[in-house]
Amino acid sequence: MRTIAIIGAGPAGIEAASVLAAMEETEVLLFEKSATTMDNLRDKAFLFPDFSSAADLVEIMEAKLNRDNIKLHLSTAITSVASTSTATEAGGIMAWELQDASGARYQVDAVLVTTGYRVFDAHRKEELGYGIYPGVITSIDLEKKLKEGKILNAVGDIPKKIVFLQCVGSRDEKSGNHYCSKVCCVTAVKQAIEVRKLLPEVETYIFYMDLRMWGGGFEEMYRESQEKYGVRYVRGRISEAASTYDGKIQIKSEDTLVGLPLKMSADLLVLMVGMEPSEGTKTLTRQCNCADAYGFATTVNPHARDNETAQPGLYVAGSCKRPMSINDSLTDARSAALRIAEYLK
Ligand code: SF4
Repeated sequence: MRTIAIIGAGPAGIEAASVLAAMEETEVLLFEKSATTMDNLRDKAFLFPDFSSAADLVEIMEAKLNRDNIKLHLSTAITSVASTSTATEAGGIMAWELQDASGARYQVDAVLVTTGYRVFDAHRKEELGYGIYPGVITSIDLEKKLKEGKILNAVGDIPKKIVFLQCVGSRDEKSGNHYCSKVCCVTAVKQAIEVRKLLPEVETYIFYMDLRMWGGGFEEMYRESQEKYGVRYVRGRISEAASTYDGKIQIKSEDTLVGLPLKMSADLLVLMVGMEPSEGTKTLTRQCNCADAYGFATTVNPHARDNETAQPGLYVAGSCKRPMSINDSLTDARSAALRIAEYLK
């Protein structure tokens, strides 16, 4: 019997667990520090690019856990991961020991880290007024409102104008995150369409630096947002947001296509917050000597061996490596499971 530990029960962790648990003579220990699985996915209403329900995907993923040889440990934070033998001593594979916050220890044959991401804390961009003005919200807050099917402005009325701002906490010198978070462009397009479907009278503007529509169906969605739903795009970065006496948000920007400063007032300003490595990701990647400058996991070779770390038996998958869509995380998790199966053979 081989035992594999997976740390993080988001979509990537669950997908890898279901693939590995289908192998004979295998037990999977799946650890999650929260009281529930897939917290980030549960916060979403609809998924891009097909507007399918996030709740349906949660249900599909939960069903994958229904196997006797998957042991799910909720509310269990793994605090230490260490190899306890050399590959030679263990007969070709390393022995690993995990410890959780209560001090319990687990002996396993391989470890997969799928601890994922956390969203950028918009309070860190003080000039944009998040947490100060009720009319400034994040893309996560808007997703919750879309899920409820109810969007109101700061004074409880139906909004007339909603402005989205891209690249909050990504591609940003001040916050120290120089990378692109990859999914926030398409998320803004998706959310603006959803807003227009729910409230057809609302004007929607997206302020962008570049629009990165990199996935299948994304470019078509972007075109449709303009042609069918009337979403407007402004190339420029908002430098400041402040409240007006009637609860609206006054923004200052520059339209970089025409080279002119721009002021606009809106009922809601939506900050498209990027991804950062979760606390669990940072802790484990640093402990296992596979952290990049931000705390995301690095691999042996980003092309050919993108799930392997330098330590035999220690693997990584999903958005603990870099910002990734849910689809890409699931694909990456299947790839990691295959690598682990090969290793254990
Ligand atoms: S995906 Fe778009 S919004 Fe997100 S960081 Fe990259 S360019 Fe900015």
